[in-house]
Amino acid sequence: MTKSVMIVGGGTAGWMTAAYLARMLAAAVPDGVRICVVESDDIGIIGVGEGTFPSIRKTLSRVGLAEADLIRSANATFKQGISFVNWRDGLGSPDDHYFHPFQIVSQADGLDLLPYWLTGAAGGDSWALASTVQTRVSQASLAPKMISHPDYAGPLNYAYHFDAVAFARLLRDRAVSQGVEHIVDTVEAVTLTPDGAIESLTGRRSGRLSADLYIDCTGFRAQLIGQAMGVPFKSFRSELFTDRAVAIQVPYDEAGQEIASFTKAIAQPNGWIWDIGLQERRGTGYVYSSDHTTDEEAERCLRTYLGAGAKDLPSRILRFEAGFRETQWKKNCVAIGLSAGFIEPLEATGIGFAEIAGVILAGLFPWSGPVDLGAEVFNTQMRARYTHVIDFIKLHYCLSKRRDTAFWRDNVETRSISDSLRERLKHWKHRPPSFIDVDLKHDIFTEHNWQYVLYGMGYRTDIGRRAGALRYYEDAKAAFEDIRRQSDYALQIMPSHRSLIEQVRLHGFERPKGV
Ligand code: FAD
Repeated sequence: MTKSVMIVGGGTAGWMTAAYLARMLAAAVPDGVRICVVESDDIGIIGVGEGTFPSIRKTLSRVGLAEADLIRSANATFKQGISFVNWRDGLGSPDDHYFHPFQIVSQADGLDLLPYWLTGAAGGDSWALASTVQTRVSQASLAPKMISHPDYAGPLNYAYHFDAVAFARLLRDRAVSQGVEHIVDTVEAVTLTPDGAIESLTGRRSGRLSADLYIDCTGFRAQLIGQAMGVPFKSFRSELFTDRAVAIQVPYDEAGQEIASFTKAIAQPNGWIWDIGLQERRGTGYVYSSDHTTDEEAERCLRTYLGAGAKDLPSRILRFEAGFRETQWKKNCVAIGLSAGFIEPLEATGIGFAEIAGVILAGLFPWSGPVDLGAEVFNTQMRARYTHVIDFIKLHYCLSKRRDTAFWRDNVETRSISDSLRERLKHWKHRPPSFIDVDLKHDIFTEHNWQYVLYGMGYRTDIGRRAGALRYYEDAKAAFEDIRRQSDYALQIMPSHRSLIEQVRLHGFERPKGV
């Protein structure tokens, strides 16, 4: 019987897992599971990871955090998607941009609009513009919801940008209020049993620490699963080359400036720059490949992007490697967060993986039976998710027509593209991505995400032979017109992003009457 869980690590992964499991495993009641977080005061958290995925709303709702508290305490803003600039050919044309919205494609009475878009029924509009109102709403710096909408809900799909350090602190307070014990200490040693399970930990101040199940949230150190238990890390560096980022936090030029409600991802000679708008500052960073450029050159490139105002702002270099551990649950230890794996910052999947791991672990939790009963299922599920995301991220790079540097030329080398991705691209020359291409149980990204990126990058699917079978052309044209009208209406009624944030900070979201 598993009565106690010890989470080592107090970054986003550690505290999010603690807060989530506290609710799911009833840490606050006598019959529930005892949960403890051991967090080092010597080793900091990574402190990046400020863009999220819409799944975060469900997670935070289950954790029992009020959305207004997130906005007030974590400097959070709304994120409605990602704007990609200079990814197609990098020649500086104003057309070299596309939007990947979170809102899924509008369905017109069950009519799949994509084949009609491919045959020109939406005129010259891009797929993201033609198929959802979110593109225009977010580009006009409007919010995805109103003050009258309930927590974590609104007419448009959204996630958040937030201050990673403040977010971890907020989750810590929530977890502790739900009965999670907090030990500030550094784990110096991990003692294994003869069969390789964790017998106990040794804290510098606390001495021996033990539990039935251990969760490794120690970040890239992977102190339990990697260093102590020797579970190997599988690198995908030969497919995804970026392995470093230089990050700079930038204050706004003027107080009260509009806040972008999407992440900007601007392609560069050897990677890409992220630009994220929080309430009082922007978080920016250049993600690059150390095989293709130097730290100094990358920093110069980021500072050139930021302009003279950022000249004296401090920078930080972060190192990572695309990959994951194929075994993330071994015996009585489960890895969640960076200790389990990391792909790269593009499309902000890091926190999403930690969320999923927490949800799967709660579902497989060994209330009774052997402590590792769920390990095989957990590992299979996580492996599939990581593998699919690697293909999705690679899609962004391998469709580019940029040939200005070795970085972009190497990205289209056949050997750097997995068989599964090449196979998919072969199909999509003749038919668009559909539900058939996603594994509904495992995939973080659905066919909508693949479509937005594929067609955003200018990929051509030739369905000319099928054109005669598209019998609802007029209905499709009317549906696109309807989306245009809905967008016009949304532009009139949705609040500005900053004004909603400011209102929520002052008054919170309106509660429905009687609640
Ligand atoms: P960390 O934040 O590193 O926390 C590790 C914790 O373990 C710390 O509290 C530390 O004190 C503790 N610890 C370590 N060793 C010990 C020990 N021996 N004893 C006790 N405690 C110990 N993800 C996204 O979702 N969106 C993004 O936009 C995004 N951008 C990123 C950009 C970059 C450049 C990088 C590198 C990552 C990015 N990520 C992003 C990933 C994201 O930062 C992480 O997934 C997330 O912050 C979770 O980190 P963590 O909690 O696993 O690790």
